[in-house]
Amino acid sequence: MGIADAVRKVRDRITASAVKAGRDPAEIRLVAVSKTVGPGRIIEAVKAGVTVLGENRVQEAREKIPEIASLFAGGSVEWHLIGHLQRNKARTAVMLFDLIHSVDSVALSAELDKQAGKTGKVQDILVQVKLSGEAAKHGIPENDLTGLLDAVMQMNNLRLRGLMTMPPFSADPEGARPYFRKLREIAEALVQKGFPANELSMGMSNDFEIAIEEGATLVRVGTAIFGERD
Ligand SMILES: *Cc1c(COP(=O)(O)O)cnc(C)c1O
Repeated sequence: MGIADAVRKVRDRITASAVKAGRDPAEIRLVAVSKTVGPGRIIEAVKAGVTVLGENRVQEAREKIPEIASLFAGGSVEWHLIGHLQRNKARTAVMLFDLIHSVDSVALSAELDKQAGKTGKVQDILVQVKLSGEAAKHGIPENDLTGLLDAVMQMNNLRLRGLMTMPPFSADPEGARPYFRKLREIAEALVQKGFPANELSMGMSNDFEIAIEEGATLVRVGTAIFGERD
């Protein structure tokens, strides 16, 4: 299957699961995860209507983004950082990305705030939450979430948009459902308290339909669009 067909198919599946869940499909944005994918195939995806691209490594993104951006001038493509971010890459990340999904510490937030301030940018961020105990490497534990969010809300150059999570791998997509549901419940409680946490980044190729049923607004889909990675 070509990339254009794959994009169409993923969009159809997004629409179908939104409808099934009684949601407006327009609430859900597709982040096409282009890590390890070369510029030629990324451009095919953009021509097929992809408007948001997700990368997981700053260095790789820095090499690819300028080439692709120059072809699609006018800001029609957004770039999101979905992978772990080291503090020493914060400056480059602020230069490259419209939304950073993986903020998980006060120290990283402070560095992003500082770097964004230097360039006069307000950086949109999601906070990555670790819901699976020791199984996950990255993400802030739920118990520490409010402390991090309180700190972020004091930072003038960061704008909180919502939460992200990565459930532990499970061969059955239903295995991810409790984690997706939990993230939505946490976000709803935060919104009640006045935090602007309306975006929920959750769901990948294997389980994005379940994530949409549980409230995802950003689904991060790589393999189902670009095929298996090497
Ligand atoms: C690679 C990756 C994805 C996409 O995974 P697929 O299974 O290929 O859809 C989503 N989110 C993160 C954080 C990733 O690193």
